[in-house]
Amino acid sequence: MFPRRESTPAIPFYVPKMLGQELLEVILRRHLEKYSCFVETGTELRSFKQSDEEVTAILAKKQGEDEILETFTTKWMIGADGAKGVVRKQLGLTFQGETRDDFHIVTGDIRLTCAGLDRVHWHRFGSFNGRAVSLRPTDEVGEDGWQFLILASDLDIEKIAQSQQLIFETIASMIDVDITFNKLVWATDYRPNIRMVNKFSEGQVFIAGDAAHVHSPTGGQGLNSGVQDAFNLGWKLALVEKGLAHKSFLETYTSERLPIISEMLEVTTSIMTRAVTTGSMAGWSTILFTLGIHCHFSSIVLDEFATPVEGNTINTYGALDKEHLEAGDRAPDAPKLRRVDAENSSVMTLFGLYSPQYHTVLVFTPSPADATPILSALERYDRSVVQSAVILPSSTVTPIMPAVDLIFVDQEGHAYSAYLVEASQTKVFVIRPDGVIGAIVHGAEGVKKYFSKILREI
Ligand SMILES: Cc1cc2nc3c(=O)[nH]c(=O)nc-3n(C[C@H](O)[C@H](O)[C@H](O)COP(=O)(O)OP(=O)(O)OC[C@H]3O[C@@H](n4cnc5c(N)ncnc54)[C@H](O)[C@@H]3O)c2cc1C
Repeated sequence: MFPRRESTPAIPFYVPKMLGQELLEVILRRHLEKYSCFVETGTELRSFKQSDEEVTAILAKKQGEDEILETFTTKWMIGADGAKGVVRKQLGLTFQGETRDDFHIVTGDIRLTCAGLDRVHWHRFGSFNGRAVSLRPTDEVGEDGWQFLILASDLDIEKIAQSQQLIFETIASMIDVDITFNKLVWATDYRPNIRMVNKFSEGQVFIAGDAAHVHSPTGGQGLNSGVQDAFNLGWKLALVEKGLAHKSFLETYTSERLPIISEMLEVTTSIMTRAVTTGSMAGWSTILFTLGIHCHFSSIVLDEFATPVEGNTINTYGALDKEHLEAGDRAPDAPKLRRVDAENSSVMTLFGLYSPQYHTVLVFTPSPADATPILSALERYDRSVVQSAVILPSSTVTPIMPAVDLIFVDQEGHAYSAYLVEASQTKVFVIRPDGVIGAIVHGAEGVKKYFSKILREI
């Protein structure tokens, strides 16, 4: 369904990986545990109030058969409580859009064996403008586990969803090979809602994921977009909480995410509409890999090299173009950078250098002396949130550098190539904690101008 792409030095993860929710949750929870953060199950947010300083939430906790109400006070709250969650509703944010009855499906997990179906491919039978079944092997459910989807405009989908027998029969009727049904794990009927909020926050409270936007599953953008919401908000909230950025900076969460989500809704809706009208699954292009999503339009990115585009068409869901790189794009990777500032010269990648905790200032220069004023300009910023690295071209022989976190030689030219820098040029990139290029500038003045948009005056 997706076009196949091989990994490249700039894009090391180019092949989509399908994960079931149960496995993904294990990965996310294990990661949270590393930071002593645990998900409290059996705890429900009932309501909340907020002032300019804090949020007071009423939680209902299950203890055996009993329910205990608890008051919890916190400075910030993020409602990642899904499409039906209370946070968006209590904030009074709008959730306008439509419900699509023409993509009414039964979906769920099932265990079945069928000699004719390999477990390497996602299988589809029939046509989405009539009757169709899709079966995606999912080992998390079992060696015979599949995620299934049934779409049939002429059948009673609600009735099928309620009956294991009808689900078995409907699948069997659309597949002309022998199947042994072992177990229905779960099933539900589902109609896409295509809706989004008018803003992503109010006061001290934010929303992320399906709480802020829902849409057709065609294109697989939902959870991916939710993770991007969280990443966009996370580093901004951290800077404000540390007192390094103004609270008003958090408004850029809405201003950067709204145009992207709005376009994502259009992209996924058009794939669904094409599928139900023509039966074609065309449109699953590499745009859906989300690597070309950008925020060129953002008020907090700065590009001293880009030519301003006429008109106000934003077009945030761009195709990846390796001939063009602009502030607001996703920062590419580059492998085999040889570290030359330490005694033991190690080799690393740019992705290994970037961190959600830091803005990373990359100074591409053939002349170490040209890097000095740029590195000096960085001294005014908190070192716990800004790191720097100098990237010298592959032709460099023995560099003598001023004090700097890291100095690399781009041995094989991958960094200069991916960042479109000439070996003779000095060009500075500021990579945000969320992996977006915040700035592309000529030197120290540009770096200061960029950080004046992010950090409060010290
Ligand atoms: C058929 C289908 C296929 C999909 N395929 C893809 C795909 O391939 N790729 C992709 O990226 N996305 C896909 N999606 C979308 C994806 O499933 C959702 O976007 C994602 O699960 C949303 O995550 P979330 O955490 O924002 O919300 P949810 O998954 O809805 O999680 C919200 C959580 O909050 C909890 N909660 C709610 N209210 C409260 C409360 N008051 N107190 C405490 N907890 C509360 C809920 O119990 C739930 O655990 C698909 C969706 C569907 C329906």
